[in-house]
Amino acid sequence: MFITRPGEALPDWCEVRRFDLIEASAFSDVTFEARGPNDVIVVTYGTGKLTLSDRIMVIRESQYLVLPPGETKFTLSGTSRPVQAIHFSGQWGADIYGCGTFPVSLDVRSQFVGDKVTYPKATSFDSHYHDYDEYWVIVQGSGTVVVGEHSYFVRPGDCVPIGAGYHHDFPLVDAPVKAAYLEVSACGQKRLGHLWNHTHGSAQPIAARAPTV
Ligand SMILES: [Zn+2]
Repeated sequence: MFITRPGEALPDWCEVRRFDLIEASAFSDVTFEARGPNDVIVVTYGTGKLTLSDRIMVIRESQYLVLPPGETKFTLSGTSRPVQAIHFSGQWGADIYGCGTFPVSLDVRSQFVGDKVTYPKATSFDSHYHDYDEYWVIVQGSGTVVVGEHSYFVRPGDCVPIGAGYHHDFPLVDAPVKAAYLEVSACGQKRLGHLWNHTHGSAQPIAARAPTV
């Protein structure tokens, strides 16, 4: 499947091989195995205490941590409130071009700073592309995402893999959305941020990373 759920294998071209949702509280620590060679933890709700073999770190919503080499497991615990995080693992290089969370909500006054689109749109999210792959994991809400020529209905737990050079958008929401993102596997000019045809030149999608149904 193109849209994948926690624990499922992503499409073959994805250097992110797996992701899991983690929920912990002050009363229930959760210990997970590192899968290597690259593991990233990004907090999607609350503040968490991350215990490694030789240190304790506190990370809060939208912050992320790259697990140091040699760590074989980690423990996540909440503070006075629960904490939710996503554990990504895979085979990308050391570079991370972005990681955190983003909101999407209904916005009937949408201002289209992104590239022009032909489908219905009721958010201020901009249609854009990147010089790297991006992965979205929906953690709250639901709605419609567009990748290339395809559109998908997404709900919490869904992962959307977006290949470098493919336009993507979040044009419709049924309920306000919060999602996590991870940007890795850069190519080409390795430019940062949202790229638009009208400003940065036409996207050059990598055929092997095309979206499917
Ligand atoms: Zn993007």
